[in-house]
Amino acid sequence: MKKRLAILGSTGSIGRNALEVVGMHPDRFSVVALTGCMNIDLLARQIERFAPEMAVVRDAAGAAALKDRLAVVPMPGNLTRILYGKKGYIEAALHPEADIVVSAIVGAAGLMPTLAAISAGKDIALANKETLVMAGDIVMKRAKAKGVAILPVDSEHSAIFQCLSGNRRQDLKRILLTASGGPFLTRNNASFDSITPADALVHPTWNMGEKISIDSATLMNKGLEVIEAMHLFGVGLSEIEVVIHPESIVHSMVAFTDGAVIAQMGVPDMKGAIAYALSFPERIDVGLAIVDFAKIASLTFEKPDLERFPALTLARNAARSGGTAPCVLNAANEVAVDAFLRGVVSFTSIPALIEKTLEAHNPLPAPDIDAIMDADLWARNHTASLVRHLRG
Ligand code: NAD
Ligand code: MG
Repeated sequence: MKKRLAILGSTGSIGRNALEVVGMHPDRFSVVALTGCMNIDLLARQIERFAPEMAVVRDAAGAAALKDRLAVVPMPGNLTRILYGKKGYIEAALHPEADIVVSAIVGAAGLMPTLAAISAGKDIALANKETLVMAGDIVMKRAKAKGVAILPVDSEHSAIFQCLSGNRRQDLKRILLTASGGPFLTRNNASFDSITPADALVHPTWNMGEKISIDSATLMNKGLEVIEAMHLFGVGLSEIEVVIHPESIVHSMVAFTDGAVIAQMGVPDMKGAIAYALSFPERIDVGLAIVDFAKIASLTFEKPDLERFPALTLARNAARSGGTAPCVLNAANEVAVDAFLRGVVSFTSIPALIEKTLEAHNPLPAPDIDAIMDADLWARNHTASLVRHLRG
């Protein structure tokens, strides 16, 4: 039987890679729902190729444009139901025929559809780490209650998941979460203020969406991933160590009680982790080469520089505070990154804005989903007002 997928965020970097995997294995996978946002043209082409039953865009104007665009093509694309807005994204997540939901919307917008899919008992291939950063306790509890598998798509978490498989959970000693270090690993601190969005968007080893590329440049991505790993694997902050590994060949490692360290390696291509989440527990060929170790010659590792990359400490502190603090960290980061991408604030303002927002927040312990959404909104408004003040 084919696995039927709903892909939330199909027009993004993860979504496009997921569809490539589907395209390579039409005998294994079919697509029942696709969602985009503003990129109508790409979504239309995806609909023409994969003929989902449903497609979702951001608003009514986008839906009308998509319908027009599809009207001129022959079947089967014009049989697709077109929905829009937040309700539409939830409907895609709840699609009655979907066996697995690929959660690949970027940012906080991914939370509610992912939670809806879990409540409906759908397995999740999770790329949207923000879901776990914002509401990890609620999400994992609900997944457990519903018997839902959360299969990590984030390459590090996929690696950890693979390293843990076949081992006893109580033998885990430490997670060694690797990070490429981003484009500014060796850049001098004094010149950080002159970093432009164009500089920051060029990642040395991975090709990703804009927001996560900036997060990788500030190392906030690794901070978010520490929190993601805490929830996915039920480990404490002290059991996760971040290791800089510029080659991005070791996708992460797990150390066990007996001192053994198991690493998962591969070429840096997200199709590997996506395919593993979609085909688990099987492994399928998605055309990835085996690492040529002799050609690479050496793999290097170092400690992260917390002075140049304060975002990592901010994330660890938010994780330690718990409650609504990680949600506030995430929202402040989204607003600050957006302001940086628009050329409104400097690169070094990103962690500064997040820190100020966290300082002004009194975290609420054990929040329910309403309290989380309130904290998210509060943090967005607070950081936005700090941005206006900076421009002032
Ligand atoms: P992207 O920017 O390339 O794509 C984002 C997708 O989300 C697009 O399909 C877009 O249409 C949709 N979207 C954006 N805003 C939306 C909104 N408000 N409502 C509904 N849909 C919206 O991002 P990406 O790089 O593919 O990343 C997606 C997620 O996967 C992120 O959470 C990211 O952290 C995570 N992730 C990405 C990578 C990677 O290699 N790109 C690796 C690990 C994890
Ligand atoms: Mg990652």
